[in-house]
Order: sequence, then C-alpha cells, then structure tokens
Amino acid sequence: MTALAELLANATAGTARLADPTGATASINFVAAARLLTAVADDTNTLSLNADDFAQRTVTAESADAETVIVQVGPLRYLVSTDGIDVLRLCTVAGCERECIDPGSLLTRVCTEHLDVDDSQISNPRGIRAVRLDAWQQLAEDRARTARGDLDVAGKLRDQ
Ligand SMILES: [Zn+2]
Repeated sequence: MTALAELLANATAGTARLADPTGATASINFVAAARLLTAVADDTNTLSLNADDFAQRTVTAESADAETVIVQVGPLRYLVSTDGIDVLRLCTVAGCERECIDPGSLLTRVCTEHLDVDDSQISNPRGIRAVRLDAWQQLAEDRARTARGDLDVAGKLRDQ
C-alpha cells in the first residue's frame, strides 16, 4: 500500500514499485504515476467524491507484472501500463479486467457484464440494472446535446 503522493514522489526518483498480494511487482514510470494521479483527481471531481486528503489516498495493487498493474484507489480501479501509455478505468467489480461502460457516474463504473451486480447503496424496485442503464443513457444524452451545440456553433461560424 502506497499513498498517491508517495507513489508520485517515488516515480520522480525513478523507483515507484507496486507489489500485488502474491508479491509480484510492477515498476511504473513518472508518466504512469502522473497519469494515474490525474485520472483519480478527475474522477474525484466528476463523481463528487470527498477530495479531503486526496494525495494521501491509498493505492493498492491487485495484480502486477512487467507491463501492467491493476490498482485500486478507494472504490475505483485502474489498469496502468508501466510505461504510462495507458491508464484505463476498469469495472469496479473486484477481479474484473474490463473497462467500465462510462466513467461519468459511480453507477456506470461497471462493465456490460456486471450491470446486474448489487450495490448496497442503491435499493430500487426496478433493479440495479435498470438504474445503471438509465444513468448511462442520461450521460450519453448530455454528451449528445453538447455535441449538437458544438456543431451548431461551428456551422454558424462557417456561414459568417
Ligand atoms: Zn466487470
């Protein structure tokens, strides 16, 4: 277990090593540590999670090898390539290596295979699957609205 700030400091010094429960390790470079920190910061903001002691949040390695490491930071999971090229947001179900369907909401931080997995925070007579699909649709509609607005503005500016 390492705090985010400690991980970044170690990566700056060139020695950021994360060990999984089996003892396997991954050495991540500065770009990987910085991109992970940025992803956690963005998600903390997007998901309205408590940002207190952000840098002291614990990074736990679930599995590690020479190329990638899967880390858990609070409820969120990420797959980080040790060279820093990829930082993927994973499904929040432990052990799942698929990307989440949408990083915009805690409800949609599962993959398509895990839409039905129970969440103790949510009780809804229609079931968790319907709640998650509603949340995903809402996020997609918000983005579509923004994209339509951009297209309108671009079109108007072109016509001027
Ligand atoms: Zn999953």
